[in-house]
Amino acid sequence: MMRLDKFLCETGFGTRSQVKEMLKKGQVTVNGVAAKKPEQKIDEHKDQITCQGKTASYEKYVYYMLHKPAGVVSATEDKREKTVLDLLKSEDRRDGIFPVGRLDKDTEGFLLLTDDGDLAHRLLSPRKHVDKTYYAKIAGSVTEAHIERFREGLDIGDEKKTLPAMLEILASEPETSEIRITIHEGRFHQVKRMFEVVGCKVIYLKRLSMGAVALDETLAPGDYRPLNEKERELLG
Ligand code: URA
Repeated sequence: MMRLDKFLCETGFGTRSQVKEMLKKGQVTVNGVAAKKPEQKIDEHKDQITCQGKTASYEKYVYYMLHKPAGVVSATEDKREKTVLDLLKSEDRRDGIFPVGRLDKDTEGFLLLTDDGDLAHRLLSPRKHVDKTYYAKIAGSVTEAHIERFREGLDIGDEKKTLPAMLEILASEPETSEIRITIHEGRFHQVKRMFEVVGCKVIYLKRLSMGAVALDETLAPGDYRPLNEKERELLG
């Protein structure tokens, strides 16, 4: 159950004061009866609500592509730190939204926010192995020999070696390198730990894609947008 005015704001019919005005004018109905009071309690899953003749209803689930900036944590709440959910505008917030997997506080890039627990489960399940591609700047020289080691899998101190990862060298200088890497798991600090065991250090990390869905490069860090239908299908 929730307040009628809150429901109408969250389903895109306007601000609280605009919604109040529409209620006053008798433009809102609940189960066929004109509703006047903003504070009226409604059941958002069962009641039939219209506003200016249009049905008001929630999308079943929401899916946002966030360009995570550095400096925010991938959690739903944190006592001290700003979280990725704090980046959502108030009209886009609703209970149950969470980040699918984690990016470190200093990692940027594609993070999916949703309230669809089944999709999250499928994407994170070790059996499904959704590929994740990252761009990184590395302190140290990354060479062809590293490509082979990453392909073979690395012992990063876990029970099992990492699955084969595809490493591409974009630029290699004696002091720093730029690379792209695709991994099929999501272990804690995985990319950083893989480079650490070969004697390098990740100094910048950005997730470029998850499965077949790439980060929309028109999104500035901190911005987000709903997935379009095609992207939604690609994620499965
Ligand atoms: N690997 C890391 O080390 N950090 C991330 O945030 C994601 C992958």
